[in-house]
Amino acid sequence: MAQRVVVIGGGGGGLGAAGGAKAVDPSAQVTVYTEYEDVAYSPCGIPFVHGKEIPSFEALFLAEKQAYVDAGIDVHYETRVSSIDRANRTITVDGEGTVGYDSLVISTGFVYADPGVPGAGLDGLYYVKNIRDAMEWDKRLDTVKKAVVVEAGPLGIEMVTALAHRGIETHVIDPNPWCLGELLDPDIAEVVQESWTELGITMHWNTTLLGFVDNGSGSVGGVSTSGGTIDCDLVVVATHKQPNNALAVAAGIAIGTTGGVIVDETMKTSDPSIWACGDVCEIPHGNASLPLQGLTGSHAYAQGKVAGANAAGGSRVYNSVYIPWGMVAGKWMIGGAAFGEVAADALGMPYVLGVAEGISRARYYPGVKKVKVKLLAEPGTLRLIGAQMIGGEGIKERADFLGVAVKKGLTLFDLATMENVYSPPIGALNEPIAVAAQNGVAASRSA
Ligand SMILES: Cc1cc2nc3c(=O)[nH]c(=O)nc-3n(C[C@H](O)[C@H](O)[C@H](O)COP(=O)(O)OP(=O)(O)OC[C@H]3O[C@@H](n4cnc5c(N)ncnc54)[C@H](O)[C@@H]3O)c2cc1C
Repeated sequence: MAQRVVVIGGGGGGLGAAGGAKAVDPSAQVTVYTEYEDVAYSPCGIPFVHGKEIPSFEALFLAEKQAYVDAGIDVHYETRVSSIDRANRTITVDGEGTVGYDSLVISTGFVYADPGVPGAGLDGLYYVKNIRDAMEWDKRLDTVKKAVVVEAGPLGIEMVTALAHRGIETHVIDPNPWCLGELLDPDIAEVVQESWTELGITMHWNTTLLGFVDNGSGSVGGVSTSGGTIDCDLVVVATHKQPNNALAVAAGIAIGTTGGVIVDETMKTSDPSIWACGDVCEIPHGNASLPLQGLTGSHAYAQGKVAGANAAGGSRVYNSVYIPWGMVAGKWMIGGAAFGEVAADALGMPYVLGVAEGISRARYYPGVKKVKVKLLAEPGTLRLIGAQMIGGEGIKERADFLGVAVKKGLTLFDLATMENVYSPPIGALNEPIAVAAQNGVAASRSA
């Protein structure tokens, strides 16, 4: 009889798991449950449709529903799983009753942290996630004159920029002293925020949300903050991503300090018949052995492949993470790998710093952009422990490379003498990473 692999969740993690299971055992009966109307769309593109950089939501759909039918993956749309019975290896599905499994993958993703203030039930509070909801909110954005974004984390940064591009008067409030305050170094944030000022965005730092204000007819008319009330027609609530762990908690599966499901290197949970992947999990950081939660869609998908393959009888491993990251923020791209100065300081990690301000193409080539690179290295060995960057282009590729460099233990000496591509339209003679490393080596010698 075919083994039954059941996946709860149809996001990047869940679909990665379904595909991973089928790849290992094509005869497996793979069933996916999702509360949403769709699978296989990119939520990552939603802010850019709102900002009118992408013309339509249709572009964000990556595959037809028929593709999953053809692949032998049975997706149950708009179907909620309400509980897991580990002893009997069954789940309870709304409208379907009890469903058995041989192996189960939990990929229930994230929820935005409850802002925990009065007025949370008002109309006009937008939690950006489901594409069908986003399509409706997009129509409403045509009528919005003034919006407030609550918290300048990764999604908040994208939404602030998108709303401004859309011509909406945009305010952002955040309890931190600058954007992405728990991660981003202030010198990088300052450049982003200058560009936000140019885009007409009003920033309220060190500002705590106290409540959402009713406009008198059940819709939001403003936000009450520690710095006063800001009138608005719409609020984007972009609070921290938290693991959507209710099912796992109720089933008695081990949960870590971050609230994420604990998994081993095969993505197996504390129950030998249950795997987990994506934002519902916590994953150790490679250098600091720190559990991390709320990573990215690309992490979720890669974890899903491993979890699904192993749930179907495979033997794959998911390694610790070093987190190359990047995004557009205002008129700039920002990115990095592992730790910048803010995170290293918070963790009490000593470091040597190498900084360079370079260029993305030959200085005479049209379209040349600035690129600032900061490298953090362990004192003594000068082993790379992190990087942070801002520039006009080429940040993603450098972040990916520096993620591998941290993982592989490269040093500033290695990077100072790295070979690099020099071709006027795509790269300058002096690679900013190499120059930053040379400066870091010099700084360590003069320290
Ligand atoms: C607006 C936006 C922008 C983003 N931008 C980026 C980006 O630029 N780069 C990037 O890498 N990532 C991005 N992400 C990805 C994101 O941050 C997450 O990392 C990713 O969505 C995690 O995938 P997941 O499969 O773990 O969970 P989710 O995507 O949260 O999916 C969870 C799934 O579980 C289902 N589910 C939950 N509970 C139940 C239940 N009880 N029963 C049945 N089904 C259930 C849901 O219906 C959903 O299908 C973005 C996400 C959003 C929303």
